[in-house]
This record gives sequence, C-alpha cells and structure tokens, in this order.
Amino acid sequence: MTQSISTLLILGASGDLSSRLLLPALGQLLTQHPERTLRLVGAGREKLTDADWQATLKASFKTSDAAGSAVKKLLSSTTYHSVDVTKPQEMTRLLAECTGATAIYFALPPAVTALVCEALTEVELPAGIELALEKPFGVDEPSAAALNAQLVKLVPEESIHRVDHFLGRSTVFNLLGLRFANRIFEPLWSNQHIESVDIVYDEQLGLESRAGYYDHAGALVDMIQSHLLQVMSIVAMEPPATLGAEDLRDAKGIVLRATRLKGGSAKRSSRRARYTAGTINGKKLPSYVDEEGVRPAHDTETLAEATFEIENWRWAGVPFTLRSGKALGARRREIAVTFKPVPHLPSGLHGPHEPTVLRIFLAPDEMSLELNINGPGDPFELERVSLGATFGPGQLLAYGEVLEGVLDNDPALSVRGDTAEQCWRIVAPILSAWRDGSVPLDEYPAGSAGPADWKPIA
Ligand code: NDP
Repeated sequence: MTQSISTLLILGASGDLSSRLLLPALGQLLTQHPERTLRLVGAGREKLTDADWQATLKASFKTSDAAGSAVKKLLSSTTYHSVDVTKPQEMTRLLAECTGATAIYFALPPAVTALVCEALTEVELPAGIELALEKPFGVDEPSAAALNAQLVKLVPEESIHRVDHFLGRSTVFNLLGLRFANRIFEPLWSNQHIESVDIVYDEQLGLESRAGYYDHAGALVDMIQSHLLQVMSIVAMEPPATLGAEDLRDAKGIVLRATRLKGGSAKRSSRRARYTAGTINGKKLPSYVDEEGVRPAHDTETLAEATFEIENWRWAGVPFTLRSGKALGARRREIAVTFKPVPHLPSGLHGPHEPTVLRIFLAPDEMSLELNINGPGDPFELERVSLGATFGPGQLLAYGEVLEGVLDNDPALSVRGDTAEQCWRIVAPILSAWRDGSVPLDEYPAGSAGPADWKPIA
C-alpha cells in the first residue's frame, strides 16, 4: 500500500490553470475532507512574495467557498518559490522544501514540462513521488512515446497521472453503472443491435482569448484526440471485473488499440471547418481569423468531425462519429447510441417509427431513451416518446477528482502511457490529410449549426 501524498508541489503555480481550476478544486477537496493534512508548495517564474501567494490562494479558494481546518492549516504552511524549474539544481532545492510523500503537478506549458522531465533525470527524486501531467501530452505519437520513455525512467507508470479532467469520476461511473448494472443494455450493446454511435461536444463559446494554445491545437487535437476518444473507449469497453485502475485502463486500451479511421480514408471519414463572424445569444463574434493572436495561415479548424471503426468482434461495422466545435448555435454534449431498426413492424401499425436512441448527456449528466409507443387515440398510430433520468452532480469539481486521484495514488481516471500514444496514432492519418490540404477547410457562421452542407448527425 503506497502512502498518500503529504506535499503537493505545483510547478507553474502563478499560471491560469493553477489559479482558475487547480487551487479552487484543492480548496473544495480540503473543505470536504478536513481530515487530510497537506502542504502546498508553489513554484513559478513570476516573483511573488509569500504574501502575494497567500492572496492568490485566498482569492482562488473563495471561488469554491473553501473553509475549515485543513484549508486553514494549508494556508498557514504554504510557501512560494520563484525558480526556473527547467534547471536540475533549482528542482533539487525545490524538492528539499517538500516533506513526506510528494506529488509534482506540472501546470506548465507542455514544452516546459518536457524540459523539466529531462532536468529531473539529473535529480535524486524522493521515494514515492507522483507526477501529474497536463494535456496536451506530446504533439504526435513519436513525441508522446519519447516523453513516456523519459517519464518511466523517473517513476513507475502507476505513479504517472496524465490528466484527463474531461470525464469526471461520477460521469465515468454513471456510464459504467448504466451499462453494467442493468440487464437490458449490455445484451444489446454490440453490432448485432447498434447501428451507430455519435459522441458530440459542441460549444457556444468562441476562442475566449486562448489563441496561444488553440491556434496550434485546433478542435481535432484539443477535443477528439485528447478527450472524446477516451469517452469512446468507455462506451465501447468490455465489462471490467472491478473499477480499479488496472481493469479500467486495460479495458480502455483494448478498445483504442482496435480503433482505426473508418475505411482508412481521411477524405471520406473526416471533416473540418472554421467559424466566420456571427451572433450567439445576441453576442457578436468576429471571424476566427480576426480573433487576437490567430494566424490565418495555420488553417486551424474550430469544428472537427471524424468517424472511426473499432475492429473487433463486438463492434466491427459500427461507425463511431466524434465531433466537437466552437461558436456553434446550440450547446450539445452527448453520446447518442442509435439502435438498428426492428426486423419487422407488424402491418397495421403506422406513424413515425424511428430507431430507438439512447442519449447520455454530459455536464449536467442526464439520459433519455427515445422509444416508439402506441400513443393516445388511434391504437394503430405510433408516437415518439422520451424517457428521461438525471444522474445528479458529482461531489467534487472535475479538478477536485483529478487531485484526489493524484493525492491518493489512484491513476484509475488518468490516461495510461500506451493509451496516450494510441490516441495520437488514431488521429495521425487525419492530421496528415488536413495538413496536405486533401480535406477542405469549410466555413460556418458563428451561431449556426455548422457548414450548411454537412449532414447532421444523430
Ligand atoms: P500559463 O501560461 O497561464 O501558466 C504557465 C505557468 O508556467 C506560469 O506560471 C509560468 O510562469 C510558468 N512557467 C513557464 N515556464 C517556466 C519555467 N521555466 N520555470 C518556472 N515556471 C515556468 O498556462 P496555463 O496555466 O493555461 O496552462 C498550463 C498547462 O495546463 C498547459 O499544459 C495547458 O495545456 C493545461 N491546461 C490549461 C487549461 C486552462 O484552462 N488554462 C485547461 C486544461 C489544461 P510565468 O508566467 O512567470 O512565465
């Protein structure tokens, strides 16, 4: 049994991720678990006094109503260090400030994270150290593999948390509970009965001043490569024996290793587009290319769609379409499972009889099952109804769940090294076709449903 973490060292503590997401989540976690004793050591290039650092912490904690004895203890013991974390001597000094089992959270630009990992090879690391790394993990399969090779020289794979905050623990477990705690879904959960699966994450938000990151990533890498393929692997996995890290991550890895772009053709199985000026909820948005910091020559897509196949006995022939975009007219975050049509409809029944669709909505977590029934009045007439349920919110913010996994040495929800490489392998043919221009970059007005000639998905 490994020891749970007593010092959390955040590198990049003065950055946006830290102040806006990590620290509020940490405050909430300690509020709910006052029995936890945790020291926090912050490090960044910015020169902050301990008083500045305390003020940053208090402001972040306020956003999550953090309070209680563990929060107070942390506030009174925390320190901040202005260092260049890419220098081995400075990392040695920083680690000497940490007591007991320590976790390092890399809240740094990815290129700096890679340099720190290199620097750490020259540092004697304390026993039991855990490493938490943010997305994007590499920029392609070879760079992800190189980073993995470097990381496993530092610590065992079980101590590496490649953070995927997208699906919180409650959402993952909701999906597993629905599939595996009911007799009615699992026997139908295959190419025998399922026609197609669509995983959609459409946002109304535009670029939101994130050109520095997004203009290099685009919708395919930002969402499909790093998050939606992970969601797909949970939807398509074989039943795991337990919810432990090993079983869950093995089951996800098996799905991803069998995943290919449908028909192997990016021309037929992927689409990309970029928003032009438009209006969303009464707010005017400029064209993506006119947003501050955007280089039009990057040809960055703000809407990406790709269809994959999972080449195994259960899923052969079922298209899995993953789509995500910005500045769209409606927010849509869902997994839509469309069942095959019934083999025979008794003659005499009439009216609309679309296939059954199970929709699992993300954030807020809800579901609906769209069925055909004989409605009121004419008993021969079919009507469409929707049965709905709400899963309810999780106890912690998404980053609270991430931090809890790191602090308790539980990598169940984080991305395993081989899986991170697989996700790059899966999207590589699309990235290459998009780079050489063989798939056109379409356009859509901000606030619309996407390019007018794109066929809508379920
Ligand atoms: P920021 O640029 O806001 O912050 C990066 C931090 O790293 C800054 O505090 C910066 O200090 C520090 N830093 C950079 N180089 C060094 C160095 N050599 N030594 C010490 N400190 C250094 O980035 P974000 O916080 O936005 O992002 C961090 C990571 O989190 C990225 O991988 C990003 O992709 C990921 N992420 C971010 C999200 C967000 O909403 N912000 C969401 C999900 C993931 P200084 O300012 O002094 O240079």
